[in-house]
Amino acid sequence: MLVQQVNPLLILLLAALIMLSLMALMPWLFSLSRSRSKAVREEVVELVGCPKCGHEYSRKYERGSYVGKEVGACPRGDGPLVVKAIYVERHEGPE
Ligand SMILES: [Zn+2]
Repeated sequence: MLVQQVNPLLILLLAALIMLSLMALMPWLFSLSRSRSKAVREEVVELVGCPKCGHEYSRKYERGSYVGKEVGACPRGDGPLVVKAIYVERHEGPE
């Protein structure tokens, strides 16, 4: 009987403690991610390719680009080049 009355209270206390420690850690976690982003350079890259022959290359993302957009003709002359993927490349180290 006594155990049944104490347990929910303990769980509440533990939950409150976890919440408080998380809130205390928040600024530290944010400063950690900020100092890390200084060392890592991020660049948006798009993968351009020809669906017919498989020729593909990546280049710097151009504003307005989207997956499936035609961006030119395949150098092998068998069809249009389309954007296949857009992703972020991370480069470690200072700029
Ligand atoms: Zn091609």
